[in-house]
Amino acid sequence: MSNVEKMVRIPLYLGQEPLVGRHYAVECTLCGWVGSSEVLTDDCQCTRDVGDRLCLGDADEIGTERLLEIVQAMDRRHGDSQQAYQRLIEQTNETEQYLDKASELLGEIVQSGQTYSECTDKSSATGLRVAAVLGYVAQFQSVPPHTDEDEEARDDNWRMNPCQQGHRDVGASGGVAYCCQCDEKITAASTQKAFEQWNASHPAQPV
Ligand SMILES: [Zn+2]
Ligand SMILES: [Zn+2]
Repeated sequence: MSNVEKMVRIPLYLGQEPLVGRHYAVECTLCGWVGSSEVLTDDCQCTRDVGDRLCLGDADEIGTERLLEIVQAMDRRHGDSQQAYQRLIEQTNETEQYLDKASELLGEIVQSGQTYSECTDKSSATGLRVAAVLGYVAQFQSVPPHTDEDEEARDDNWRMNPCQQGHRDVGASGGVAYCCQCDEKITAASTQKAFEQWNASHPAQPV
């Protein structure tokens, strides 16, 4: 974007009344509305609806220079959005390609034990395809910062027993062991302690 473009303010609001008779083009100094003087108040104030009241900013007459400037700025913006739209289309197509690959791969994994065992072999043909799909998906996923404690919390050894009401959707992190369904929780000095206290006070149930 050039400096010239930045300096031109494109109105966010355009009145749709045509310019007729002795009326003239105006621009609101408060909200930037541009339109015909016909719809202003008797004191030349902007009548654009702002929630439950009118803007009532002072409106100044503008000439053809300002109007042409606005049209030119809108044209440039239109070009920019066309380009952004093209990029979006390209990205969507790419995403669809990867989705097709992913579903094809999943189909093969479901149907073939051989493909499944190859998944864990990163150098195999299937392993490379899995890595390609994962690599593509990874660029759209934000990586949450995590501590060693969180790492432990995800460990498979951390089997939490159901809550008092029997909900199995339970978890532990940040020094709290909790039930996701009924908000029952135990807070302790560490996630490890909260987890231990939870299991000590909640009997295990057969899965
Ligand atoms: Zn206004
Ligand atoms: Zn619960």
